[in-house]
Amino acid sequence: MAERKVLTTGEIAKYCGVNFRTVIRWIQKGHLRAYKLPGRGDHRVEIYDFITFLTDFKMPVPLELSELEVPEQHDSNAPQVLIVEDEPVIVDYIETIVFAMGYRSLVADDGFKAGVMLATHKPDLVTLDLGLPGLGGFEVLRFIRDSAQFSNTKILVISGKGLAEINMSLKAGADDYLAKPFSMEDLKQKLQNLLEQQARNRN
Ligand code: CA
Repeated sequence: MAERKVLTTGEIAKYCGVNFRTVIRWIQKGHLRAYKLPGRGDHRVEIYDFITFLTDFKMPVPLELSELEVPEQHDSNAPQVLIVEDEPVIVDYIETIVFAMGYRSLVADDGFKAGVMLATHKPDLVTLDLGLPGLGGFEVLRFIRDSAQFSNTKILVISGKGLAEINMSLKAGADDYLAKPFSMEDLKQKLQNLLEQQARNRN
């Protein structure tokens, strides 16, 4: 299998079955992250950014790409992680890691959508940003913990506001936490631990 980790607009066009000008429009509109080669000005896209784009827009990830980058095969039995977060950059960051670990991901950028996603998909784990607009992180936390159908759903709280808020969330039923800013390694470790616990409880 090829080792390369960047794609041209032409390759992306082929994967998506569109004209390469469409791909350039996606880049110009900011939907698809790309960088320009020095000198010639051609666009190149990192594979992770392309995969993020595909998942954002609910397009299937070509098998060839998922085999290239993902250690374990994504199948419909892989644990599902709901990312509740309103900052797109952090969503991308978490989603990339979730994907690379072989888990499936869903995203909700506010508390209301989080509730809908929870009820529809019953995810195994929720990463929950406490600082959400509208229906806040704590309300989502209470919603999950008040409902028996989510009793085996793990909650990883993500907070930018320090220990007092984190302690409150642990009291309210969060299983673990990450303080912003957090490293990829920390996130990986916590996701893995919680999902292992979750799988043990389920069996
Ligand atoms: Ca936030």
